[in-house]
Amino acid sequence: MRLGITGAPGAGKSTTIDALGSYLTGLGHKVAVLAVDPSSTRTGGSILGDKTRMARLASDPNAFIRPSPASGTLGGVAAKTRETMLVCEAAGYDVVMVETVGIGQSETAVADMTDFFLVMMLPGAGDELQGLKKGIVELADMIAVNKADGDNIQRANLAAADYRAALNILTPHSATWSPPVLTYSAQTGTGIAQLWSQVLAHKEKMTASGELAARRREQQVKWMWTMLEERLTARLRSDPAVRAKLKQAETAVAAGRLAPTLAVEEIAQLLGV
Ligand code: GDP
Repeated sequence: MRLGITGAPGAGKSTTIDALGSYLTGLGHKVAVLAVDPSSTRTGGSILGDKTRMARLASDPNAFIRPSPASGTLGGVAAKTRETMLVCEAAGYDVVMVETVGIGQSETAVADMTDFFLVMMLPGAGDELQGLKKGIVELADMIAVNKADGDNIQRANLAAADYRAALNILTPHSATWSPPVLTYSAQTGTGIAQLWSQVLAHKEKMTASGELAARRREQQVKWMWTMLEERLTARLRSDPAVRAKLKQAETAVAAGRLAPTLAVEEIAQLLGV
């Protein structure tokens, strides 16, 4: 099972992964946790940072937490995360969670490598919807409102109702699955089992309809293209003749002496494409 998890900083991703991961190892699963954001986009992406973020899971023999990558571009980190996911699966980890803080392009990268994309939200109805990024919600297989505990329960329910209404006006990306909206508490554990049962229900439905296999096929092909494009770009930037030409062309285009179309034509000729 490949599970993508996104949420704003402070939404409770670490607490949720710790709670859900421990729940799953309790059921006999082996759980791997990977992060796709280079640590510059998150707080304290060191080994110690990740271990203290998920204290219970970090000491669980049936869990593996890969430290957040210390550097690299999103593209590079995403490629490595994908490869690490495959290695983890080969090593017997049957649930892989890939976490992202959901800023910029990283959520698409995670949705493109997982079977189920969980979007975490916070209680606090009304104004929340303004921050609701349509792009992220469109990727969601489920929206889960965290921190539904103590004084927050009612606000969490209100937020959930708002998200349900918002989802109603979007066309679901699958004909067989309408993304549910749940409330839960990562801190108390209330709702964690229900959250997982939705992931399982999704898997069952998507397997039966053939959509899971189709999603993975499309992901493989997309991955191939991503790698190919990266290779081509690397080639473009490493060839000395092309590099010199690129520099010249950039200056000429910026100065308005050369049309971008012509510049591309000249560079393409050098590359023989
Ligand atoms: P992340 O930045 O998304 O990884 O968020 P964290 O897991 O670090 O949580 C941010 C803060 O919210 C921490 O102080 C947590 O203790 C708190 N928190 C996380 N989950 C819950 C919850 O279910 N209920 C409450 N009341 N607080 C929570």
